Amino acid sequence: MKKLTLDEWENEYIAGPIERFDQKYTMGRRGQWDESFKERMKELTARTAVSDEPGWTLVDWAMRVASRSIVPKLELMNQSKPNQGDTSLAPDAFAAIDKRLRPPAGAGLNTNDPKTITNYIKKAATYFGADMVGICKLDHRWVYSHTCDTKKGEEGHKPQEIGQEYQYAIVIACGGGYNLRRHFPTYINTWTTNSYRQMMTNALLSAFIKCLGFKTIDCTFDDVALAVPLAMQAGLGQLGRHGMLITPRYGSSVRIGQIFTDIPLVQDEPIDFGVTEFCNACKKCADACPSHSITHTDRSTKPVTVSNADNELKWQFNPETCHMNLYGHAKPCQICVSVCPFTKPHTPFHRMVKWCVDKARWANPLYVKMDSIFGYDKPKKSDNFWDNWKPENYQR
Ligand code: SF4
Ligand code: SF4
Repeated sequence: MKKLTLDEWENEYIAGPIERFDQKYTMGRRGQWDESFKERMKELTARTAVSDEPGWTLVDWAMRVASRSIVPKLELMNQSKPNQGDTSLAPDAFAAIDKRLRPPAGAGLNTNDPKTITNYIKKAATYFGADMVGICKLDHRWVYSHTCDTKKGEEGHKPQEIGQEYQYAIVIACGGGYNLRRHFPTYINTWTTNSYRQMMTNALLSAFIKCLGFKTIDCTFDDVALAVPLAMQAGLGQLGRHGMLITPRYGSSVRIGQIFTDIPLVQDEPIDFGVTEFCNACKKCADACPSHSITHTDRSTKPVTVSNADNELKWQFNPETCHMNLYGHAKPCQICVSVCPFTKPHTPFHRMVKWCVDKARWANPLYVKMDSIFGYDKPKKSDNFWDNWKPENYQR
C-alpha cells in the first residue's frame, strides 16, 4: 500500500476547480422537491412485500426494518450542524443534555503535542465503536454550499458555512457484515441499515472532544459534507467503480461518519492499494447492478445527472436509477457492495489475495476470474438461515 501526498491524490482524482455541491441535488433531497423525478418515482412505487421465500419472510423483513429504526433517533441528536433540520431535538433540550460536556474549572489540555492528542482521539474513537479512524485537514470544497430541509420549502434551502476554526475532519468508518451480505439481494442483507447504530460513535467521540475543551460539528449522516472524498483524504480508502469508498480491510462494506473540530491533530495521508487498476479490470458491480447505474466505461469527469459533481475524475455513476431501484421497489439492493471482490472477511487467505492485488497489479484479470470461479459473486442460499446463523457473541 502506497501513501500519497495530497498533491498526488489531487492529480489522481481532481481534474479542475471544484464547486461546492448543493445538498438540494443529492438523491435523498431530490426525491422530495424535484417534480419530474417525483413523477418517475410514482410509476414505480410498490408495497414492501413479504412471502414464504427464504430471505423475504416477515422475520427477515422485520430484522431489516428494525435495524433502520435507529435513524430518526440519531437524527434527534444531530444538533451541532450549522443549519438545523426539523428532525433535530429542540436546541434548549439539547443544550441541557450537552452542558456538562466541558472540562472542569481550571483544567485544560496541553495543545503543544498534537501527536499525543491524535493518539487519544483514535483510541477513544475505536473504544466508542469505530472500526477505522483517519484524520485530514477539513477541505471546504467538500462541505455543502447549501443544506436543504424540504419540509420547510424554499425557506429550508439555506447557505451553509463552517467556520475556519474547524481545521480538521476526523473520519470514522464502521465495517463488516460479510456473512449477511452474501444473502443479497434479500432482506437478510441488512448490514447497511444495522450499521447506523455504530454511528452513535460520532456522538460519543464528539462529547469526548468537548470534554477536552474543544468544539465539534458532529456529521452523523451525509448532511453537512460529502463523506467519500473526506474519507479518502483521511487515508481510509479509495474510490470504487460503484462510486463508494473501498477500504483495505472491509472492502466496500463500510459506513462513514465525520466530526469537524478545532482540536490540534496530526493528519493522515491518502492511500493507494490498487483499487483504480483493479476496478479497470473488474466490472462485477456494473454487470450485477439491476438498474444499470454503474458504468462499464472508463473514468471521466463528465457528470451524468444533476446529482453528480463536476471535475471529479471517476467512474460516472447514475444515482437517479439507483435511487429508483432502491426506493421505488422498497427492497434492499446493495448488490454492488456484496459482489465487490474487496468485500471479504479479514482472513489470512483474503489478506494474501489483497496483498497480491496491491503488489502485482498486472495480474488483475486473473484475480477477477478467480473470484468468479470461487463463486463469491453469487448469492448464498437463504434456506435455513435462521437455524445456521450465529451472530457474533451469540450463545445457545
Ligand atoms: S445499490 Fe443496487 S441499484 Fe444501486 S448501484 Fe448498487 S447494485 Fe445498482
Ligand atoms: S465490484 Fe469490481 S469494479 Fe466494482 S467497485 Fe468492486 S472492485 Fe471495483
